Amino acid sequence: MSLDNYKELRAAAIAASVRAGELSAADTVRASFQRATDVGGGRDELNIILYSDENAALDEAQKLHTQIQSAADVGVLAGVPVAIKDNIATLGLPTTCASKILRGYVSPYEATAVTRLRAHGALVVAKTNMDEFAMGSSTENSAFGPARNPVDVRCVPGGSSGGSAAAVAAGIVPIALGSETGGSVRQPAAFCGVVGVKPTYGRVSRYGLVAFASSFDQIGIVGRTVDDAALGLESIAGLDNMDSTSSDADVPIYRLSALGKPASDARDPNTEAMRIGRSPVPLPPPPTSETLKGVVIGKPKEYFPDSLDRSIRDLCERALDRLRWMGATVREVSLPQSELAIPVYYILAPAEASSNLARFDGVRYGLRVDPGRGLKPMYEATRSEGFGPEVTRRILLGTYVLSAGYYDAYYKKAQSVRTLIADDFRAVFTSGVHAIFTPTTPNTAFPLGAISDPYEMYLNDIFTVTANLAGVPAISVPIGRVRRLPVGGQIITAHFDEYSMFRVAYALEAALGQEAHQ
Ligand code: GLN
Repeated sequence: MSLDNYKELRAAAIAASVRAGELSAADTVRASFQRATDVGGGRDELNIILYSDENAALDEAQKLHTQIQSAADVGVLAGVPVAIKDNIATLGLPTTCASKILRGYVSPYEATAVTRLRAHGALVVAKTNMDEFAMGSSTENSAFGPARNPVDVRCVPGGSSGGSAAAVAAGIVPIALGSETGGSVRQPAAFCGVVGVKPTYGRVSRYGLVAFASSFDQIGIVGRTVDDAALGLESIAGLDNMDSTSSDADVPIYRLSALGKPASDARDPNTEAMRIGRSPVPLPPPPTSETLKGVVIGKPKEYFPDSLDRSIRDLCERALDRLRWMGATVREVSLPQSELAIPVYYILAPAEASSNLARFDGVRYGLRVDPGRGLKPMYEATRSEGFGPEVTRRILLGTYVLSAGYYDAYYKKAQSVRTLIADDFRAVFTSGVHAIFTPTTPNTAFPLGAISDPYEMYLNDIFTVTANLAGVPAISVPIGRVRRLPVGGQIITAHFDEYSMFRVAYALEAALGQEAHQ
């Protein structure tokens, strides 16, 4: 295998070649950095990458090389360059949540998801740009300037994991980590024409993910293909003693590609959970009229309102036709509480954020601005100077809805409606529906600066936040383009049923083929 077409190589293929000694891990690292240079991924251009260290990545590659030479099992991501969203703690590279308040901060420990990627042979090449503290849908809220969409540099890449989605779309890495609180992996994946996965709440350890809204937060994966995303998720999922909300549910094999022996770091307790309860590998392409036989797909009417953009609706209908062609039954369903999802999310997430972000006070982390008049003025100056406008708005909103006079009217009521939204999903999934199909977003990537009203920005999340409120897994896959800009289709399944989610996603990807990118 040659690295000439590095930007198109799949993670599974890179790993297989590195494991077989056909490709050197150092060369894949160099190819990734070269690609970043070629596309202008750095600060002054697309602004996708905030931090990187080529020499450190090459040192890691050298260690991997030594392991391969001593015939050690180097894992399913051997030599695969990966990028990590800047709110996920990494050793050796800063973790700043694209915020001034954390400028220069280097975490003394690493997120479990990153440790697991490394344990499977992945090589961390970059920390990616994002909306400050993951609050936003365009990556324009970064304190280090907006990132741009490699598909059309006049447009935003979506957010808040815009840098991770853009890094994959630009061919810098085949896999990147993002984070989801309300759609922050799926929405940018849709905008950039790549695959984005939000796992079930609890599927992936949150240890080392800087908290935004803890009852929603989940690390997710961006991949160029469904298979790469599956491989990535499989590598990081499973119980972690460092996160008591991580689940001990079995982690099946999600990926299609046969890589030979799966990663088996038998001595690493972090990967122990991966070997328990593996299911058979899903159906491989090419798709036939039997591929999805017996699968029932729900089409919720609330996600196809009359106001939905005509071209996005048409692409969704084409995707549903393909699913039918592969043997699936499409059934109209209802998730009636979905229309309340935006107000509910934008009460609960800021409430949790206002509490989580109290820790950034100039004492423990990063920036300190001290006017020299005592503790309180120091807190005030640090936080006013350190947080950008959107983060400030969320902290104010969150503090307001939690305050004594308004707690019942806002926070408590929103919690009750959250339960109703989760009940809607439960009702659909217990009525014989295996997966729900919707558009990922109501629109395609918009030009930088086009949306200045915060509420209009929040409406970007209208089709994604429900899965976060309910805690269920969801994936966005490319289903076509409108005026050359990518459109994503979303597949949502029941709690811990990522297996069915990937099965439908593989089938759809295979059935659409090149049409997904036209
Ligand atoms: N766009 C949503 C917000 O601004 C979701 C963010 C996220 O998922 N991190 O809160």
